[in-house]
Amino acid sequence: MICLTQYNYIKDILNIKDVNVYFNENCLEISEYKGVNTKIFHGYLSYIPTHCDRCGHVNNGHEDIIAWGWKKNCKVKVTKVCGYNAILLLDKKRFKCNHCGKTFTARTNFVDFHKQISNDTKLNITLDLIHKGTEKDIARNNNVSTNTVNRILHNISEDKLVKRQGHLPKIIGIDEFKGPKDTISKMAFIIVDEENKNIFDLLNSRKTKDIKNYFKRYSKRQRDKVKFITMDLYKPYYKLMKNLFRNAIIVPDRFHIVLQIRNALDSTRIINLTLTILN
Ligand SMILES: [Zn+2]
Repeated sequence: MICLTQYNYIKDILNIKDVNVYFNENCLEISEYKGVNTKIFHGYLSYIPTHCDRCGHVNNGHEDIIAWGWKKNCKVKVTKVCGYNAILLLDKKRFKCNHCGKTFTARTNFVDFHKQISNDTKLNITLDLIHKGTEKDIARNNNVSTNTVNRILHNISEDKLVKRQGHLPKIIGIDEFKGPKDTISKMAFIIVDEENKNIFDLLNSRKTKDIKNYFKRYSKRQRDKVKFITMDLYKPYYKLMKNLFRNAIIVPDRFHIVLQIRNALDSTRIINLTLTILN
């Protein structure tokens, strides 16, 4: 058997907190995986289940649940180790319940059930996304497909990710802009800290629903502290901002006023021109 220090050391490298994951001697090999030199770790997941995963019957001993072989080599993509792509091949213990007659596999919090991407890798991808890498770069850095990155990106909007420990700027400027190709609605959304003159955040959608979900992550108390919002006079946002920030005064920003006036003048000219022709 592997000595305790070494075994903890490997768990430490892979950042595995689950006490039920174990490593054997010679558990590491470096070999080619999909054409890339990869560190492949072999481990196993084993414990005595407290109950049956299928029917919920409490396990009091062999008359309830028995060991039922292994589910071998379950592949888990873990975060890179010293620049190498890394994979964990995990043998998961299987059990059979004598009450319902069904079998089930050991579970770990290290990777979600039926998933191949470790939760740590998912966290890394989330952090990369916050730092605005392209989906392609992030996928390569984390040894996953762009589809995986995309899936995680879409889940972020439902997360509780907030900036500056949940504090919002006192003066917020909002606007939409033409986003990169991977944005949901071609146009993206920018939130500016007008007081400090820097970008507070960028959203990959300008849809009212997404903007609402974004700001709702901040507490009502924080939203009530926002004093001014500068924005385009685009109506759907006006109503939304009014609802989200009860105490804020909405200030049309000057650049947009100029544009608005010019558009108004242009359309008046067109109307006048049309009227002249008709007359
Ligand atoms: Zn059962």
